[in-house]
Amino acid sequence: MSTITAHVEQANEYKSLKDKVVVITGASSGIGRAIAIEMGRQSAKVVINYLGKPDAAEEVVRDIENDHGTALAIEADVSKSDQVQHMISQTVAQLGRVDVLVNNAGIEKESPFLEKPESDFDMVIAVNLKGPFLCTQAAARDMAKRRKGTIINISSVHEDLPFPGYSAYCAAKGGLRMLCRDLALELAPHGVNVINVAPGAINTPINERTLSDPEKKLALKREIPLGRVGEPQEVAKLVCYLASDDASYITGTTIVIDGGLMHQTGSL
Ligand code: NAP
Repeated sequence: MSTITAHVEQANEYKSLKDKVVVITGASSGIGRAIAIEMGRQSAKVVINYLGKPDAAEEVVRDIENDHGTALAIEADVSKSDQVQHMISQTVAQLGRVDVLVNNAGIEKESPFLEKPESDFDMVIAVNLKGPFLCTQAAARDMAKRRKGTIINISSVHEDLPFPGYSAYCAAKGGLRMLCRDLALELAPHGVNVINVAPGAINTPINERTLSDPEKKLALKREIPLGRVGEPQEVAKLVCYLASDDASYITGTTIVIDGGLMHQTGSL
């Protein structure tokens, strides 16, 4: 590739998110953090939502600012309506609008179904399913005013794939699959696209117990046709493309990023 072509391609990459205002929930860690940093690099203005870890969120803000980007951290529990409203109104007050919402915040609670505490089920549904409902409603009301916007839900291969011990998580992600399809139809007349991204096993703190145990890690890698877990940056690059105007004809569907895991017989 000639130097000029390389420069043009690089310029296009940066232009694709230039000045878009993006809210990313749960952006102080893992996949959300990687999306925030990549979007900052691609010149978006980024809101880092976090819950309870201001230092981690401020570190992401600093990383983006050190790379000449714009970012601000806003604390909000995505399962609480008043906190979500506050996060979106603060974003509009400080950055003017919301162009893209990434519903990334999520939790897992493992236990056999017969022993699963009701409180665990409620909490997983509240964060992983009600959270995207609340955040999408608040953000889409702003997007509808300009008849333009994109909602990206970080779902999971478990929106389709059963996972014993994680019934609440699977129910939440399965619900998110239908929420995406339904809202894509309801919001299309308002100019808002809704897309799910379904990662397989990604190298983040949520998987710490599996990835820090060599035997469990090896067993997991054997389930993945590409033979490795994914990196959060690989998910981030996909999300940046989906957030850009280049992806304007994609809505109401799930994009899987899993190294082939979903097609492996007997997987997880
Ligand atoms: P992670 O590193 O544990 O990050 C989860 C983030 O969500 C944290 O920043 C956490 O904040 C935040 N969060 C939790 N509850 C919240 C709430 N009520 N309000 C606001 N933020 C909240 O995990 P991750 O792997 O990056 O997960 C990100 C998303 O990807 C999740 O939706 C997960 O289901 C999905 N996913 C992950 C994988 C994977 O293999 N890693 C695979 C498929 C899908 P605190 O740190 O303050 O608690």
